[in-house]
Amino acid sequence: MSRVWNFSAGPAVLPEEVLAQVRDEVLDWHGCGMSVMEMSHRGKEFGIILAAAEADLRDLLAIPDNYKVLFLQGGATQLFSQIPMNLAGGGSADYLVTGSWSKKAVEEAQRVAPIAGAVHVAGSTTAKGAVADGYTRFLRDDEITLDPKAAFLHLCTNETIYGVEVQDDCAALAARAARVPLVADMSSHILSRRVDVSRYGLIYAGAQKNIGPSGLVLVIVREDLLGKAIPTLPSTMDFAVMAENISMLNTPPTFGIYVAGLVFQWLKRQGGVAAIEQVNVRKAEQLYRCIDESGGFYRNPVDPANRSRMNVPFTLADAGLDAIFLKEAEAAGLMNLKGHKSVGGMRASIYNAMSEAGVHALVEFMQQFAKVHG
Ligand SMILES: *Cc1c(COP(=O)(O)O)cnc(C)c1O
Repeated sequence: MSRVWNFSAGPAVLPEEVLAQVRDEVLDWHGCGMSVMEMSHRGKEFGIILAAAEADLRDLLAIPDNYKVLFLQGGATQLFSQIPMNLAGGGSADYLVTGSWSKKAVEEAQRVAPIAGAVHVAGSTTAKGAVADGYTRFLRDDEITLDPKAAFLHLCTNETIYGVEVQDDCAALAARAARVPLVADMSSHILSRRVDVSRYGLIYAGAQKNIGPSGLVLVIVREDLLGKAIPTLPSTMDFAVMAENISMLNTPPTFGIYVAGLVFQWLKRQGGVAAIEQVNVRKAEQLYRCIDESGGFYRNPVDPANRSRMNVPFTLADAGLDAIFLKEAEAAGLMNLKGHKSVGGMRASIYNAMSEAGVHALVEFMQQFAKVHG
């Protein structure tokens, strides 16, 4: 067996310890004679697994008691329409557009606007006057026009494709939005840094970036926001119904929840979110320094104030070298560095499960490559 350094944006690298534990338990979970994949979601064993996963997540993020934790399916993409159908209450909602995911969220909300409520773009880094910036920074305060009567304000706190991250845990935005609940897509950086959950009305995250296997999506929602769903909403999409049924109205993604639970335990063994955040800061610093000190050989276009610690896109000054870079990287065991098709170049996703040694290996390779081809 040999493992590579996997810089995939998602589904992404998982802690090796967790994978080994899954392997050891796959035929017989804790002496019950069957795999988690084979057991009833209503049984005692799975009840223990689900309760532990929720308790550990609550611990890791210090989730206040007046928030529900939901383990759902359909991915973050389904939530783009599910959230307005649950929360907009036929009124309107504000959206910030700072990259392709927040833009997708707007497009999906617009599809259901006739039944869910109007969509108002309250700020966009591609708006007129800011086109030249593309998606390379978060919005300045004076570029955001909030509706005080909006049902919620939606944003993506880490744009996975462009590598644009909100660095202040939405402190300024939450203060400004006052009583309008923030709804945050944290898919690609949840659990990578400390958050004050009480600043948000709803936090959601697909599992396959920083949590576990795909097929599971997490929703953390303040209780008072529940119960406003449109009356025709299917029950599996209704947060209040799913909360009443502890995410088990129907069969939940049991295996995904189990692996996520193991990742939460692993994270606790690392010292929790504050400890892994320090590691993530060091990893990101190392990689951005390599890019910035390459004399223009590598380039990252994102405003340093909004550079993502999780997703680091970069281009080579000579795009003609892209294919050679990727080929040599693969030969060195550095996989999935090709950038998203909409951006080009490279992207290194360095989630919690990517070790400092992995980032170090990438930096060494990049320095050597620049020396040879520069
Ligand atoms: C990956 C990603 C999504 C989409 O997740 P799916 O599970 O594929 O629907 C949405 N938002 C962000 C920020 C992402 O990184």
